[in-house]
Amino acid sequence: MKRQIFSWRYIIMIVCILAAAGAVIFSQQPKPLQATMVADSESGTKVLVLNYHKIDHTFISLAVRPEDFDSQMKYLRNNGYHTITPDELYDALAGSSTLPENPVLITFDDGYEDNYTNAYPILKKYGFKATIFVVTGFLDKHKKGYLSWDQAREMDKNGINIESHTVNHRSMTDLTDDELRSELVDSKKKAEAELGHAVNYIAYPTGTYNLHIAQMVKEAGYKAAFTIKYGNVDKASNIYALERVPIFHTEETNKDFIERIRFQPIFESFGWMKN
Ligand SMILES: [Zn+2]
Repeated sequence: MKRQIFSWRYIIMIVCILAAAGAVIFSQQPKPLQATMVADSESGTKVLVLNYHKIDHTFISLAVRPEDFDSQMKYLRNNGYHTITPDELYDALAGSSTLPENPVLITFDDGYEDNYTNAYPILKKYGFKATIFVVTGFLDKHKKGYLSWDQAREMDKNGINIESHTVNHRSMTDLTDDELRSELVDSKKKAEAELGHAVNYIAYPTGTYNLHIAQMVKEAGYKAAFTIKYGNVDKASNIYALERVPIFHTEETNKDFIERIRFQPIFESFGWMKN
């Protein structure tokens, strides 16, 4: 009798241990990080366009640390993203080609030298394409901290598109039409002469634009223009006001990066972003 009580206790104890172990194992199953950031809708595939500036250790929000940038590129690779060029984006929006799954256009504004010294080796490591919008006047003047035309040319031949960010980086809404035309046309011509091929894309300095400016961008011969309006690009986007997702240095740069790129399409699907 005594012996039987012992075995019941023994059995109950084993069952409890197994249940507890099962609960622990089950709760520790890693939640799969779904690549949910690219949702399809009636407006077609949503394209993530990332916007960086500096990649270095300067303590400003526009400067993402190289090690954080590396982690972010690794995240993109591990989650099945495919980097694309502005031409690939344009052709897909025009309906003349299709994009790979989870397309991402990685862009940098201003043309900082650290894009060459810090970002370029990391992009090469992952075999990623990217686009740099350069301020042509800064490159011409060898302005300290900015790319040289030699560095721009080298990258341009190796998967990094060099495009225009105007001549002087002046806020476009403050310019006369003549000044505006010169910023648009002269930067395009200068970059084309330095690179030896057509330059068809521009990013608005400080992101400011209006319909009149967009019309002048079109007249200057650009195929598309990028803003800093937060959102993803799809067929409903204005080709001369394409959305981007800016990436900043924050308290938790990499966590914020994942939240920004993963939740953006969800916000959009509720109509919270596009206007
Ligand atoms: Zn800029």
